[in-house]
Amino acid sequence: MCGIVGYIGNRNATPIIIEGLKRLEYRGYDSSGIAIIDKDSKLKLYKESGKIIELERILPAPKEVYGNIGLAHTRWATHGEPTSTNAHPHTSCSGKIAIVHNGIIENFQILKNKLLAQGHVFASETDSEVVAHLIEHFSRKTDDLTLAVQEALKLVEGTFGIAVISEDHPDRIIAARKGSPLIIGIGKNEFFVTSDVSAIIIHTKKVIYLHDDEIVTVTRDSFEITTLENEVVEATISEIDWDVSSIDKGQFKHFMLKEIFEQPISVENAFRGRLVPKLSTTRLGGLNMTGDELRILEKIQIVACGTSWHAGLIGKYIIEHLSRVQVDVEYASEFRYRNPIIPKNTVVIVISQSGETADTLAALREAQARGVRVLGITNVVGSTIARESDGGVYIHAGAEIGVASTKAFTSQVTVLSLLAVLLGRMRHLSPVFGTNFINELKGIPEKIQKIIESNAQIRKIAETIKDATNALYLGRGVNYPVALEGALKLKEISYIHAEGYPAAEMKHGPIALIDENMPVISIVPKDVIYDKIISNLQEVKARNGRIIAIANKGDDVVSELAENVIYIPETLYDLQPLLSVIPLQLLAYHVADLRSLDVDQPRNLAKSVTVE
Ligand code: GLU
Repeated sequence: MCGIVGYIGNRNATPIIIEGLKRLEYRGYDSSGIAIIDKDSKLKLYKESGKIIELERILPAPKEVYGNIGLAHTRWATHGEPTSTNAHPHTSCSGKIAIVHNGIIENFQILKNKLLAQGHVFASETDSEVVAHLIEHFSRKTDDLTLAVQEALKLVEGTFGIAVISEDHPDRIIAARKGSPLIIGIGKNEFFVTSDVSAIIIHTKKVIYLHDDEIVTVTRDSFEITTLENEVVEATISEIDWDVSSIDKGQFKHFMLKEIFEQPISVENAFRGRLVPKLSTTRLGGLNMTGDELRILEKIQIVACGTSWHAGLIGKYIIEHLSRVQVDVEYASEFRYRNPIIPKNTVVIVISQSGETADTLAALREAQARGVRVLGITNVVGSTIARESDGGVYIHAGAEIGVASTKAFTSQVTVLSLLAVLLGRMRHLSPVFGTNFINELKGIPEKIQKIIESNAQIRKIAETIKDATNALYLGRGVNYPVALEGALKLKEISYIHAEGYPAAEMKHGPIALIDENMPVISIVPKDVIYDKIISNLQEVKARNGRIIAIANKGDDVVSELAENVIYIPETLYDLQPLLSVIPLQLLAYHVADLRSLDVDQPRNLAKSVTVE
């Protein structure tokens, strides 16, 4: 969550790292700060609680904070309140060493007690501050800052992405990682360190992803990566394939709206190059599995959190329907701490937009420790999950900045549907079915575009429910997880309590909640269980519930029942979620916007949840 940006070069670091922090604003944070080594080699520190604008307010004139080396941080508090004192960077007793940290130092109390006993004085309540004091402790024994940081980090248990500067070494940044992302950006006679490429992409697309337990020493003209044991590590330089425009809002009011509107393209990017019409099937080269391995597969265990978990649930419906391979879906946080049964011929699929979700990553490692093959479905190329899984599929959705995931979700579902067809065609699906599926999938972007054209109508509907305190989302079959996702979107950004249910379950409890104030958002496409859902809606109507229906064009029955209907084009049963979720995303967006809420940075949430 939170973020780190560091700069070393010949330009003034302050505007570069402040701009970088703003690019990370979407990740969610509660305070921020910068440390600069100025032209007199003095460390200057500025920290403030709240948004980055608050930090900017306390910064003196640019001339006074001029320096070629700097670190910046946005914090998402885990230890200690989000005050300016607890904001990063944190300094050592001498005030000469400054550190920024993402993650959690689990043994900080033990380390802190020892340091206190040695006379160190702490300013904050954070776990992170111990690192500054530890480095100071080891700096008394060596002139080599890298060695001092190595020794300090060897004592630290937990997770960290960390960057360090020191007045005594005004020509270098030291950075390291364990469990939290840390990336080096290579510019022309300048370098960056960051936890997220969005912060530096306007400066360079050449990056190195640090691995766990690696540490890098960056000067103005060189860098060296070593392990914590000081063994030199060879670096692999990667090229970021995101377009710079993907991190700008353009003409849109919010990133979330822009990303909803991007879905015709992002869905296409998820299947582009992966369809094999000649053989009526799909191709997913990144799985690194042979045809034989895929054919003997008996079970898929999907592990994910939040919106990715909903995509996984849809994956279960589609994969089981098309390939008859059994699929279980579990929250990563549950999977990792119980003793899951993983039969032979099982693969685990982990799904994470960022590829850094802490619980999902831990689940991946747990599965691998049991000798199971793990495939990753991620968006961020080079992310930890992408690197550590045995194979996988990139969804190619481009940067997703809005905290509430939209385009990543539809891209995840697209990729899961490609997998379902691949497995199905290897088993019993006919070529005719495969061809039909491929053709339908190709038409999905255009159909999404059609739905987006209802944006103004959906805003009007949002007006009618914006003051609700509760909402119920109903769907059946493959649209049941879509109902869950719709409810989650509303909760996340509008703070209206919402629940998703399989429509028929409503009568086993939630029906008690229905009255004239309760919006009931129902997904009612014309499919095999259409009649059943209509009966469920009659039950809502009989209790004066206010129905908003997502239905197919020309459906007069639904228009009779519902207060409002949003029409979506028809498609194959398995592909319906790619369409039915779009109005739900737009509805949540407009409700939140009409309530004047901060859509892209909802309270308490962060984009990529890198803590447990
Ligand atoms: N655990 C640290 C703190 O509470 C760092 C949190 C973060 O990753 O921003 O200050």
